[in-house]
Amino acid sequence: MNSRDELILFECIKCGACCREETLLVTVTGSDLARISSVLGLDSNELIRAVDFYLESVITSRDGLRDFPALNTEKGPAYVALKKLEDGDCVFLKDNLCMIHIIRPVVCMSFPFVFQDAGDHRKWGLSAMKHVCPGLGSGPEVIGSELIELADTVLEDLILFIEFAEDWNTNSEPTAQKLIEAILKDPRFTV
Ligand code: SF4
Ligand code: SF4
Repeated sequence: MNSRDELILFECIKCGACCREETLLVTVTGSDLARISSVLGLDSNELIRAVDFYLESVITSRDGLRDFPALNTEKGPAYVALKKLEDGDCVFLKDNLCMIHIIRPVVCMSFPFVFQDAGDHRKWGLSAMKHVCPGLGSGPEVIGSELIELADTVLEDLILFIEFAEDWNTNSEPTAQKLIEAILKDPRFTV
């Protein structure tokens, strides 16, 4: 995480590599899901087809997940992420373009950067999956202070989702279906 002196250059060249990388989980928060549901008009039965549940027990590296909460399902605690097609493409990628660009998940807005709350200030750094991104190393210098607004959005969103997860994980009969329904009903994620 950065308070760094190191010079970092970045420009998104809209190559779509981060949307096609099979090993990069596109994790979604409650706010992301509520926004996608509302704008696309998807109910819980339709929304659940756009996500996958990655069981915490089979995730080999949590490097890219950091503080992201796992939520209980009938199969065990799982991370909720956008579905990947058989070739690794995100379910919302079409002709190498994001079909939900305006309402894309905060993790997509952030990549290849990640943020962390350090108490009295917010830190930024590069994703554990930064090697996927050819936009790093070219373009203008990254100015940390310019990332702060995005950091605020990302971290406030994450805090709400962690609060939701703490409540949800006390549920004695959790299922993935009920989880999606609960997210869409939760006032914390009202669009
Ligand atoms: S991999 Fe990097 S350069 Fe390519 S679309 Fe994603 S953020 Fe932009
Ligand atoms: S939601 Fe859009 S930006 Fe995010 S991975 Fe999918 S296609 Fe890419």
